[in-house]
Amino acid sequence: MTGDVTLRNARLVLTMDDGARELAGVDIRLSNGVIAEIGAALDPVGEIVDASGCLVTPGLVNTHHHLYQTLTRAVPGGQDALLFGWLKTLYPIWARFGPEDMRISALAGLAELALSGCTLTSDHLYLFPNGARLDDTIDAAREIGMRFHPTRGAMSIGESDGGLPPDSLVERDAAILEDCIRVIDAHHDPAEGAMVRVGVAPCSPFSVSRELMRDSALLARDKGVMLHTHLAENEEDIAYSHEMFGCRPGQYAEDLGWTGEDVWHAHCVKLDGDEIDLFARSRTGVAHCPCSNCRLGSGIAPVRAMRDAGVKVGLGVDGSASNDAGNLVAEARQAMLLQRVMHGADKMSAREALWIATRGGAEVLGRDDCGQIAVGKRADLALWDLDTIEAAGSWDPAALLLAGPTRVRHLFVEGRQVVRDGHVTTIDLPRVIETQNARAAQLAS
Ligand SMILES: [Zn+2]
Repeated sequence: MTGDVTLRNARLVLTMDDGARELAGVDIRLSNGVIAEIGAALDPVGEIVDASGCLVTPGLVNTHHHLYQTLTRAVPGGQDALLFGWLKTLYPIWARFGPEDMRISALAGLAELALSGCTLTSDHLYLFPNGARLDDTIDAAREIGMRFHPTRGAMSIGESDGGLPPDSLVERDAAILEDCIRVIDAHHDPAEGAMVRVGVAPCSPFSVSRELMRDSALLARDKGVMLHTHLAENEEDIAYSHEMFGCRPGQYAEDLGWTGEDVWHAHCVKLDGDEIDLFARSRTGVAHCPCSNCRLGSGIAPVRAMRDAGVKVGLGVDGSASNDAGNLVAEARQAMLLQRVMHGADKMSAREALWIATRGGAEVLGRDDCGQIAVGKRADLALWDLDTIEAAGSWDPAALLLAGPTRVRHLFVEGRQVVRDGHVTTIDLPRVIETQNARAAQLAS
């Protein structure tokens, strides 16, 4: 429970509500974790925050990440590798991680997201070496105060069975499902305003068995949680699907129960027209990760075609090892730019890309209580200082992705201030960075 906060006289509020209203000079009152009131010259209640120089947007929503990877950024052997070679370089390093590495890397990744405007993030953790657990990342999210959708990932096909990961990083199907049940029962909150929702997320069709994919879908539906994995990321991925399963990834997903409004897939760079129709029809979501796709040379996802067909699309920074940044507002700009490269400057506006980064992501994660600024919705808000050099001379305060800061001035999650004047308030960030760097150096030696 948090006290009341009144944001005074916002220069502009991009609501992302159903009417896409843009409100100038209004106040917003936050109370008990929700947006209680929006209007001009409200009675100042609780703490007053001057928003007169700020653009206010809903908190951005990150739909795909591997927080643990913030400990393995810019690893020399993986810098210029393609996806499968990149994975093979990093697996042995990740195999040395333990619980504290998972917690500290998650804290660093979450802080970076918060500073870039993110209030709700999912995470995909699919390896659990040396006693690491999903709970380690949930602890980190609670500590920093971020709304969190961790997904219990898994790999079950090791090198000796023709898979990509080393045998030491794979688990048995039964143990995976058992731990999924444990973390759902321990942490998943289906209620409106939930701060933690757990998902089930085998790593990818090329690292788990067909049976585990099918059983994961059955388990998730039984428990009422969402499903997530990587799909159709690049040409190697499509070739693997044809060779091993005799079909395209969309068909494989559909056959195993991996379509529906409770499912979202990361990347989907190589979805064809039929698969886009399938995703639209079935209300299956997509986590678009433009920087990662550029970084690994995977291609440009058909986001324009997906959106035109009615597919739910959100943004993901993806793991820091393949981005290597975790700046979500920068990711939104990249999404806009890539669609323009593909289709022309009139095919993705700054406003549309920001909608994808907020409301779009909330839809993908099944959160109709987040992603927009409206009375009764959760008090997750990002305040962007427009009196900074990045926005100086801008004629349009709403065009944040064309001319605007890439760090927030203030950030509220569930009405609680997580960033104040550009600094994270809830954790000792310099200490986290120091610990993170010391551990990275240790892993590199
Ligand atoms: Zn990923």
